[in-house]
Amino acid sequence: MFKLEAVKCKKCGSGLLVELNDKITYCTSCGSGFEFINDEMVDIEINFAAASFRDEGELIYKPFWFIKTHIDILERTNTGGFISKMFGKDQDASFDLIFYIPAFQCPLESLKYLAQSFTAKNPVASPQKFNTKLTGFVYGKEDAKKLCEFILISFEAEKSDTMKTFSYRIDFKSFEILGVPFYKKANNVLKDGVLGIEYQDKQ
Ligand SMILES: [Zn+2]
Repeated sequence: MFKLEAVKCKKCGSGLLVELNDKITYCTSCGSGFEFINDEMVDIEINFAAASFRDEGELIYKPFWFIKTHIDILERTNTGGFISKMFGKDQDASFDLIFYIPAFQCPLESLKYLAQSFTAKNPVASPQKFNTKLTGFVYGKEDAKKLCEFILISFEAEKSDTMKTFSYRIDFKSFEILGVPFYKKANNVLKDGVLGIEYQDKQ
């Protein structure tokens, strides 16, 4: 189902194909990205991750929020939590973290696992401009911010039954979109082409 709107790239004037319900669009002519906010086209940086392995199935690109932050851990009562193991930080740590938050519809457990795995491994050091399209963008910036907090807390909480206090501050520095390759398998299974995580799309 296509809604063929007469949308033109604000930067280069190329015609853009916009599907019904698309909330972002990427100009394959010049690499500009736009987010539709109240029918306005607002600039947003869009880049892509290269697949790190080949697999069977059609290759498609799904959008993640790629969010650069600075985190200050203000207080926590337990030690040995996942954050200190993962980042080698002491109590009262202060560090930069890039969150990878799926912006497409997928089951909550899968969304959480994808976000945790990609954020912990930071596997896309240098995203690139690709001549391809992105489909299925549904979660906006405010949703993404809440998911960043959820993921940060889950990093700390999951390895510890004893967490009593955990206070932090997240400074959101930039919001970009990252297209991540997925292989479409049989039975609605999707497998990402960077870390190889599979999930079943219920749709
Ligand atoms: Zn353009």
